Amino acid sequence: MNLKDELTVLKGIGPVKAEAFAKIGIKSLEDLIFTFPVRYEDRRNAVAVNRLVPGEPAVFRGMVVRTSKGPYRGKRGSLLKVTVSDGTGAVEIVFFKGGYLDKTFVRGRCFDFFGTPVSGKTGIQVIHPEFAVQGELMTGIVPVYHVSGALTQKDMRNSQKAVREFYKDASDSVTPEIEERYNLCSLEHELEGLHFPSSRRHYGEARYRAVFDEVLVLQTGLLLARTCSGNGEKGVALAKGRHEIEYTDKLPYTLTKAQKRCIDEICRDLEKESSISRLVQGDVGSGKTVVAEAAIYKTVACGYQAVLMAPTEILARQHFEGFKRNFGEFGIKVGFLSGSVKKSERTEILEELKNGEIQILIGTHALIQPDVEFCRLGLVVTDEQHRFGVSQRIKLKEKGENPNLLLMTATPIPRTLAVIFYGEFEVSVIDELPPGRIKVATKCVRGRRDECYSFVKNIIDRGQQAYVVTPLIDESDGLDVRSAGEVYSELKEKFPSVTIDIVHGGMKQAEKDAAMECFARGETDILVATVVIEVGINVPNATVMVIENAERFGLAQLHQLRGRVGRGSNKSYCFLITESESETALKRCETIERTNDGFYIAEEDLRLRGPGEIFGTSQHGLPDMHITAMTKHTDILEKAKNEALNILNEDPQLSEIRHAVIKSRVAELFGTDFKLNL
Ligand code: ADP
Ligand code: MG
Repeated sequence: MNLKDELTVLKGIGPVKAEAFAKIGIKSLEDLIFTFPVRYEDRRNAVAVNRLVPGEPAVFRGMVVRTSKGPYRGKRGSLLKVTVSDGTGAVEIVFFKGGYLDKTFVRGRCFDFFGTPVSGKTGIQVIHPEFAVQGELMTGIVPVYHVSGALTQKDMRNSQKAVREFYKDASDSVTPEIEERYNLCSLEHELEGLHFPSSRRHYGEARYRAVFDEVLVLQTGLLLARTCSGNGEKGVALAKGRHEIEYTDKLPYTLTKAQKRCIDEICRDLEKESSISRLVQGDVGSGKTVVAEAAIYKTVACGYQAVLMAPTEILARQHFEGFKRNFGEFGIKVGFLSGSVKKSERTEILEELKNGEIQILIGTHALIQPDVEFCRLGLVVTDEQHRFGVSQRIKLKEKGENPNLLLMTATPIPRTLAVIFYGEFEVSVIDELPPGRIKVATKCVRGRRDECYSFVKNIIDRGQQAYVVTPLIDESDGLDVRSAGEVYSELKEKFPSVTIDIVHGGMKQAEKDAAMECFARGETDILVATVVIEVGINVPNATVMVIENAERFGLAQLHQLRGRVGRGSNKSYCFLITESESETALKRCETIERTNDGFYIAEEDLRLRGPGEIFGTSQHGLPDMHITAMTKHTDILEKAKNEALNILNEDPQLSEIRHAVIKSRVAELFGTDFKLNL
């Protein structure tokens, strides 16, 4: 057998199971080996039945003394109660849909159980414990894997046990030198310790190395990407002078101190001989757009072109409209490009871009396409940067001769993580909101939906507008979740005199635009929407944000949604409607109610949801990398980064044999579709 073999080489895995494994991305033995548990169960604690304590998971064993069937959810004989005894006492085991198990739990047979006791009416009960015939239950520290579909925990554990013997053949990106230098355990010890730890310490050693390994690969890739993208190297340098003042002087408002500082930092950077990369962090509504506009103005005034990429069509169009107004005044031509631009129009835009007529180009991912060519690209701006992958940013940058780079994000990145992802960037922070902004009053609503909507009606009668956001577009069977369609019809019926519109991702672009524009012009009172409105939409007269099924949204998302209101001079409100009892959901709502601080929310988000969802592939192009652990072991970040630098110093192309594994992992992580010079 070979690590690249398919899973079917394992005993007990046929084509059907293999398919189920493939569905969660596990195709080869190697995939299996590198699929780690999401948590562990401590089953070292075996106790006598009379020592079971409610709430404390335990392993116990017993002989079946009695079984009885009862009804469950109206189905006769569906519920099974099994009484087992070990001589010290008896305990009742309950299986809600386990009627059929009476054939297994025959009087007199002995079983091992693992479960969490609860106190029932008749004494201690254990609901749905894991069980096996005596001696066959997995004990010790037991891994729990992510499984889904036809795959059971048992399938996963058994297959994991079967590949244990191949740990020694797994390919290692950490060289023996590095292993020695940082006193890391071997890969074999690591794999053993992650899947089947013998102790907390074993797990700790394994985890440390695993994180080191991941950060090493990540840092090597990021460093490569950066040298390839020419950060810090000779690039576009703008003429010295305070050109941006011409632009900012014409603004109808005074810039905040923070905005002025950021604009100054950026514009002085732009004058440097070397290409600069700067990240602008500012909470929703802090006024990042105008900061980018000032930098863009300076770039154009000095004879270069600028490009701005936004993650959604709606947002890109909104920027385009604003830019046309603001830059038109100066006789500067702004173009727009997205997937929905007609072919003939597109051809014309590309032509004007190439001959320099278009000085500023705004658009979506469509900007990355190879036939989009500039004449003198001086500045690349990405709005809501966290929505883009590293490769997208680099591709855009490659359209010029080492242009400057400005990344804007409203999702503040916890400091620890910023070091990993943006370690090489200069950072500007807009830590101040424009004056006159009143904090958005936020309230979690349970069981009082009607009151909430009466409130909405009230503010509409006062001439203001509201958003209602739902997690889904259409009704979906089986899910107890409100859809945009459902809420839309409901509200229309309830408030016949109110103008209500709907916008969601399933609509055609033109329809979405029309709906957004009507709302922005104040022709619509309530806009029912899915998260398509999440980023960047700016309608100052909208003062209420109602979020249905708030439990279905992440913290950062809720914060972003709330940021759609409170943009004008009127007091604004955000209502989180939820009936969920889940602890995480409640915590999230509580956090949002309590604070407006985007940085704090980002840290909380990381803590509550774990890193996977935050830095999911959609947002970063990078997989979940034990980021939680990284944030705990900050020393790893430093060490791995140094080591990545070392490696690239000695072997800039990663062409030596000893770096073959790390090279292939970097290529896998970053995709080979953009130039890493590998
Ligand atoms: P974000 O940082 O979320 O991208 P925007 O750039 O969309 O925020 O700005 C939000 C709103 O605040 C816009 O209507 C913008 O015109 C306005 N704004 C920006 N800066 C100021 C300021 N200094 N004073 C008043 N309003 C401002
Ligand atoms: Mg914005």
